[in-house]
Amino acid sequence: MKIGALEAGGTKMVCAIYDDNSALIKKETFPTKEPSKTLPVLIGFFKKEGIDALGIGSFGPVDLDKGSPTYGYITKTPKEGWKDTDIAGLFKRELKIPVGFDTDVNCSAIGEHEFGIGKDVDSLVYITIGTGIGIGVISEGKVIHGAMHPEGGHIMLTKSPKDPSGSVCPYHDSCFEGLCSGPSIEKRWGKKGADLSDDPKVWELEACYIAQAVFTYTAVLSPKRIILGGGVMHQSAMLPLIREKFSEYNGGYINNKFVNDPDTYIVLQSLDDEQGILGAYILGLRALGKSV
Ligand code: ADP
Ligand code: ZN
Repeated sequence: MKIGALEAGGTKMVCAIYDDNSALIKKETFPTKEPSKTLPVLIGFFKKEGIDALGIGSFGPVDLDKGSPTYGYITKTPKEGWKDTDIAGLFKRELKIPVGFDTDVNCSAIGEHEFGIGKDVDSLVYITIGTGIGIGVISEGKVIHGAMHPEGGHIMLTKSPKDPSGSVCPYHDSCFEGLCSGPSIEKRWGKKGADLSDDPKVWELEACYIAQAVFTYTAVLSPKRIILGGGVMHQSAMLPLIREKFSEYNGGYINNKFVNDPDTYIVLQSLDDEQGILGAYILGLRALGKSV
């Protein structure tokens, strides 16, 4: 049996084929151009492989409401040409197989929960900090969707007096994504994050914001682990500072065995940026009623 997995990103499309024992058979990456150019290439790739099911983790926002006429669509994205694209439906029609669909960050959460550092807990929050910021939430073993999917990148943060610039979010003055994403770092300091590794003030401010968000997710969602990923988290030297600031903001109020051990409560992704595609594979398996 062959399961297809697609991690649909704003810059690249990662396509993989697994057997039903989670062994990778093949993986290829294609650039994300406009849908009319990119989608036929992806369909061709999966058709050639003869897969039994497909799981898709997509950039968003997406419609995950199975009762909605636009279920499986990428909806209000600013990504040129991709607004209102029926991605899940197209693959289902073209490949005539079961298709599982969720956000890219929910897939990362699922990947870490099934194969990685979230294996031993039933409730976790996965945060990706990259070009955008998003969260995937697993609560008591289930991915939280609700009316659509959480938009944890847009929670309000208290702006630091040490912050010399503002938000890059077109919608909000002081949201997490606006203050903390890769593009916000670049706007604030005039250089890309990767070229600012040696400047501690950059990462101190970043860690303060991330810790604020981690505290809010802790208070609202009651997770047992918080997993951090995305390009900006390649600055792993921030981790001790995030843990320290989190404990400071908590002030000892939330008091349980998970939160009380920041070294195991707040951790980095553990699957070398394979967590998203592995989560998409799980969605494909689940579309067939199977699990690992
Ligand atoms: P995307 O969010 O587009 O899927 P990534 O998670 O790789 O992709 O995030 C890309 C963002 O992360 C860019 O804004 C980039 O500047 C930033 N970034 C990538 N590598 C680093 C690094 N080593 N340090 C800080 N920021 C980085
Ligand atoms: Zn915002």
